Amino acid sequence: MSSLTTGAITGSITRAQAQDLDRTDPLAGFRDRYLPATDDVVAYLDGNSLGRPLAAIADSWQRFTHEQWAGRLIRGWSEGWMDLPELVGDELAAAALGAAPGQTIIADSTTVNFYKAMRAALNLRPGRTKIILDRDNFPTNRYVAESLARDLGLELVWLEPPIDGGVTPEAVAAVIDERTAVVTLSHIAYQSAFLADAPAITEVAHRAGALVVWDLCHSVGSTEIELDAWDVDFAVGCTYKFVGAGPGAPALLYANARHHAGLDQPIWGWLGRQDSFEMEQGYRPAAGIRSMMSGTPPLLGLLAVREGAAVIAEAGIAAIRAKAVALTEMVTAIAEDTLVPQGFTVMSPCDPARRGGHVSIARPDARELSQRLTEAGVLIDFRAPQAIRIGLSPLPASFTEVWDAMEVIRTLSAPAH
Ligand SMILES: *Cc1c(COP(=O)(O)O)cnc(C)c1O
Repeated sequence: MSSLTTGAITGSITRAQAQDLDRTDPLAGFRDRYLPATDDVVAYLDGNSLGRPLAAIADSWQRFTHEQWAGRLIRGWSEGWMDLPELVGDELAAAALGAAPGQTIIADSTTVNFYKAMRAALNLRPGRTKIILDRDNFPTNRYVAESLARDLGLELVWLEPPIDGGVTPEAVAAVIDERTAVVTLSHIAYQSAFLADAPAITEVAHRAGALVVWDLCHSVGSTEIELDAWDVDFAVGCTYKFVGAGPGAPALLYANARHHAGLDQPIWGWLGRQDSFEMEQGYRPAAGIRSMMSGTPPLLGLLAVREGAAVIAEAGIAAIRAKAVALTEMVTAIAEDTLVPQGFTVMSPCDPARRGGHVSIARPDARELSQRLTEAGVLIDFRAPQAIRIGLSPLPASFTEVWDAMEVIRTLSAPAH
């Protein structure tokens, strides 16, 4: 490994400069909060798929298991466990979503929450028959929309953004009309990292009388979000990516208080009902955001989301975003200088204001190269057919770690190989 990390000039940025960036990084101290990977890991560049674990999560689970689960047993449900979906939702909302209390729950998966939010939004726009979405959205969002269109007889209006870009307000304005019920997009595109102008697109939708459902999977915990100020209707997002709550952790679901009186979601479970424990006949939704719940809260996942929200609140989302920009600027500069000459294209926007927390590069042999990178301890993300996603988690990552990883990518993708 040492031959790859000798401090040779890589493009416009030297390893010494990366080390300087670490020395002046106000978030550098947060690195120690995370549990270590095995020694063979040179760099972890996949925190946008699965964030690294905070030591605080292991401590919280340990305490919960011994004190609350073992100690309190079934009594725990009436001693606060049942309140956690809303309580932790409010904590994440304050730390990372720009949302006032009472509008966010943590429950189910993003896929299920997306289905519920979409149905709730469609139910608020009866008689309208179109959903606007894009071909570059994450598969689960496209498939759920296709199922809704089939079941409800709706029309899907597909936008086709450029490979290194995303959906603009102008593109939405060009296709929206009085039959549009919902516009649904990812705030940050999972492939290109394009950061959509969420407030402007939300305004375009509202001017046409439509509602928005934003997917925040790649922005929550990495980018500033102002759901209330942007007047967003519904939003969903993962907590196991930049929030770091662990594989399969429950997802967020936001519904603007403005819509609570008419909230009508399709999965009528007992825990979204008024007075759940009366076990009565017939469904009557609970008041407010609680009505978006369906079944039993996943406690361990909620405790992990709680730790993720706490560390975001402590670091501050503005500082996290600033480091995300600095990391993606460094990676983009190195990629332009050393990887583009080796046949790669950069698939992410060059304007940092329109770029999220990862950088995608593409070359036809990306699948095979990804395999060799993994073997060399540089854990990136391969995305078919030919993209390598370099995910940059501002809290656990250092500039030097990322620089070293870029050097491994350059070396393993050089023509000699
Ligand atoms: C990661 C991701 C998902 C994942 O959904 P799950 O239900 O957690 O599997 C959904 N949408 C987007 C945009 C994603 O990036």
